[in-house]
Amino acid sequence: MPDQLVILGSKGGPALRPGGPWPSSSLLQIGGRTVVVDCGLGVTRGLVDAGISLKWLDLIFITHLHSDHLLELGPLLHTAWTAGLATPVGLFGPPGTGHYWRRFCQAMEFDIEIRIVDEGRPDIRDLVSIVEFGEGHVVERGGLEVSALRVDHPPVTDCFALRFEHAGRSVVFSADTAFYPPLADFARGADILVHEAMLEQGIERLVARTGNGARLKDHLLASHSFAEEAGRIASDAGVTRLVLNHLIPADDPEIGEAEWIAAVRKTWAGDLTIARDGLVVELSSAKAAQGEETA
Ligand SMILES: [Zn+2]
Ligand SMILES: [Zn+2]
Repeated sequence: MPDQLVILGSKGGPALRPGGPWPSSSLLQIGGRTVVVDCGLGVTRGLVDAGISLKWLDLIFITHLHSDHLLELGPLLHTAWTAGLATPVGLFGPPGTGHYWRRFCQAMEFDIEIRIVDEGRPDIRDLVSIVEFGEGHVVERGGLEVSALRVDHPPVTDCFALRFEHAGRSVVFSADTAFYPPLADFARGADILVHEAMLEQGIERLVARTGNGARLKDHLLASHSFAEEAGRIASDAGVTRLVLNHLIPADDPEIGEAEWIAAVRKTWAGDLTIARDGLVVELSSAKAAQGEETA
């Protein structure tokens, strides 16, 4: 299994539009482990389409409890369970993650109980172990080291960027955040920084479309980063590749890859990828290319 990042859902926010991308979820395959980062709507379909067998679900990380990162967590675990999941899953999220999971299992109690009796399945409630984390070290598993940084996503206080490191390779997810300079230290030297981004010229049209105009605009400006700001973090951190993700707007016909690139090139000259659903970024190629340059 090659070390790789797969963006399963690339849009910011919970809305779905015909033919558009899906809310936030990613797959990271690193050091032989299968890691899911965020579980927005569409994560299950995305994992299956990426060739992942759901019964081998391994580690899941939730950056914060906004629905565009959480809504399909329970359905993913439940679907994996009905697909034959019988090994423990490690679920890591901010405070409140356990509450969500227990209430989901309560809501699905009829189905869970009947499948245990009727199909002889193990109890799903025993298969999922929950760790609610804060800033700092999160977990170490077989050489995979995970750490968290609290970022700036008001009014949510428990929102965490995540850094995954294995055998000298590292991938950092910004989570949802306004421009937050400490993120550059946290992402220092990473092979890949996946950073959220907004495009200024798209925001006006977006708020006009959604019908909750002023309030939505205030939230976006206070809690999210412009593409230029994501590029600034990547430059200050000295990462190898920047992946712009959690795109806002994500489905404006007047905004394509060229517009995103033009914005981020004001502050970032390195390797760049604009996320789309199903996009694969190989970690090995990033490292090999780096090796050639220094050889
Ligand atoms: Zn979000
Ligand atoms: Zn959010």
